[in-house]
Amino acid sequence: MAKIIVVGSSSIDLVVTSSKRPGAGETVLGESFKTVPGGKGANQAVAAARLGAEVTMIGRVGDDHFAEEILNNFKLNGVSIDYVEPVTHMESGTAHIVLAEGDNSIVVIKAANNEVTPAYIDQSMNAFHGAADMVMIQQEIPEETVTHVSRVCNKLGIPLLLNPAPARPLESEVIENAAYITPNEHEAKILFSDLTVSEALRKYPNKLFVTEGSKGVRYFDGMHEVLVPSYKVEAVDTTGAGDTFNAAFAVALAEGKPIFESVRFANRAASLSVTKFGAQGGMPTREEVEAQL
Ligand code: ADP
Repeated sequence: MAKIIVVGSSSIDLVVTSSKRPGAGETVLGESFKTVPGGKGANQAVAAARLGAEVTMIGRVGDDHFAEEILNNFKLNGVSIDYVEPVTHMESGTAHIVLAEGDNSIVVIKAANNEVTPAYIDQSMNAFHGAADMVMIQQEIPEETVTHVSRVCNKLGIPLLLNPAPARPLESEVIENAAYITPNEHEAKILFSDLTVSEALRKYPNKLFVTEGSKGVRYFDGMHEVLVPSYKVEAVDTTGAGDTFNAAFAVALAEGKPIFESVRFANRAASLSVTKFGAQGGMPTREEVEAQL
């Protein structure tokens, strides 16, 4: 079983559907409301656990009732929460989502996720010393934490998979320290604004993997630019496709699968995830992916 550490955000998404989006100062009557667990860190941890990895989450929750919902969801999915510590007098991370007129508007409150600090990582060092095969990180936590974790991984010789979402320019040290970097096309343009995607891929062979939605994933293998096509599916909801891709890619690599095969496995898992509603709702199990490979 691959051992994976996820350093990242966890939150509760508060989702409202409404036929009309309220304008400034306006009140409208909506149709439905639900709360679902989210946050890129949590999504990737849950996806990796469903795919058969032993997953430890390093994150923070608040001291509100959303914290319970977040922690219960980790437990239900078999993710270890030994390193998810509540922050007192603070709210859990939330995303406030209005689905209206065929599109969504989202306000994110990071709250406790801002407390995933370098000092908190130092406090969680035992997790890293537990012989992890891979560390995964995203960018919904402070920038200095990403840098710090990249140094820890480099020092301990643990491969780091950085999913640079949401996009912000990366320090060259972080790029050097990461073993794998997985932006989508939009994020790649922000990260490597002075290069075309092909130039960036050539600069970072077997390290940079650009996800291109239904088209699949592109990387440079040292000789050629490779496009690993995704699978044709009936897409219902693409939320969480990237999170599923990253988790599945990490699991396959951590198990020692070659890069091409790992990308194929991750495309299969991500394509299955878009056939169901919700970020975590569609994340497939190992058996579901293998039955379709
Ligand atoms: P993000 O969700 O981060 O924006 P992408 O849209 O690039 O990232 O999707 C990530 C991966 O999910 C893709 O590389 C692909 O494997 C899979 N995927 C996404 N959308 C589809 C789709 N409509 N059909 C099949 N696979 C998809």
